[in-house]
Amino acid sequence: MSSNTLSLAGAQRLFCILTIWLMIPLAAHAQAGDAMKALNQPGPPFHIIGNIYYVGASDITSYLIVTPEGDILLDGGFVETAPQIEANIQTLGFRLADVKFLLNTHAHLDHAGGIAEMRRATGAKFVAMDGDAPVLSSGTSFPVVVPDRVIHDSDTVTVGGVTMTAHLTPGHTPGCTTWTMVTQDGGRPYNVVFVGSATVLPNYKLIDRADAKATYPGIESDYEKTFRVLKSLPCDVFLAAHGTFYSLTQKREAMSKNPTQNPFIDPAGYQAYIVRAETVFQTELQKERAGQ
Ligand SMILES: [Zn+2]
Repeated sequence: MSSNTLSLAGAQRLFCILTIWLMIPLAAHAQAGDAMKALNQPGPPFHIIGNIYYVGASDITSYLIVTPEGDILLDGGFVETAPQIEANIQTLGFRLADVKFLLNTHAHLDHAGGIAEMRRATGAKFVAMDGDAPVLSSGTSFPVVVPDRVIHDSDTVTVGGVTMTAHLTPGHTPGCTTWTMVTQDGGRPYNVVFVGSATVLPNYKLIDRADAKATYPGIESDYEKTFRVLKSLPCDVFLAAHGTFYSLTQKREAMSKNPTQNPFIDPAGYQAYIVRAETVFQTELQKERAGQ
C-alpha cells in the first residue's frame, strides 16, 4: 500500500527529529516544538475494539483499556499530550479516577513524557519494565516518574478480569515492552498486540563501540530477540506506540466510513510491520559491518 510507504518515510523523518530532541537538554526543547506538533495533533478519541479505546494524539498513541473494576492506560505521550489524553478519556465518558494502572511501552519522551502528569491526574500506579526504570527515575529528557512497580519479562497486570502481559522487546530501549491482551468483541476473543518499537534510530550504533553514546552493549542481540518475540506472538488486533506503525489514520478513516468492518483486526499488517522493521535493522547492521 503506497500510503504505508509514505507514512514510513514520514516516520523516519520524525524519528530523526526525535533523536535530535533526545540529545538536547530540556531547556532547549522549545525550538523543536514545531516539529513535535506534527506528531501531537489533537484528535477525537474513539472505540477501537472490545474494551479498548484510543485516547492519544495524531501519531503519539495512548490506549484506555476499560474494565468493571478500573481502567488501564498505556502510554502518556509527550508532556504536551497529557492534557489531550485527559480530555479524551473524559470525552468518552470515562473518569480519570477510574484509571488504576499506567503502563509504558518505552522510556522515550514521546511515550513517557506525560506519565508523571497522568499519574497526578489519576492517582494510578505506574508499572514499568526493569530495563527502563533507571531512565524513568532519572528525568533526563522528561519529568521524573519513579515506577510504583518494576516488572520483568512475562510479568502481568490484572484488573477487572483483564490481564495484560509484558513482553520484553529490547533494543529500541533496554526495557522496551510489547504488551498483549485478549479482548472480547461480538462474542469472540481477539489477541491484541501493542508493539513497543523495533525502530533503529538514526544515531543508534548496533555493533558495540566506544563511541556508541545513544546505545548500549548487547543492543544487536537485543534487537534479534525482539524480532523473535514479535514473530511468536499471536496477533489479531495490531496496535503500537506510533500510529504510523499500523496506519492509524487510514484505519480510523476506513472505520468511520464502514463501521461494519474493523480494520484494526489486521494480522497481515502485523506480520508486514515485523518484516519492514527487521529489514531496516538488518540493512543498518550490514552498513555498520561494512564500515559505512
Ligand atoms: Zn522511542
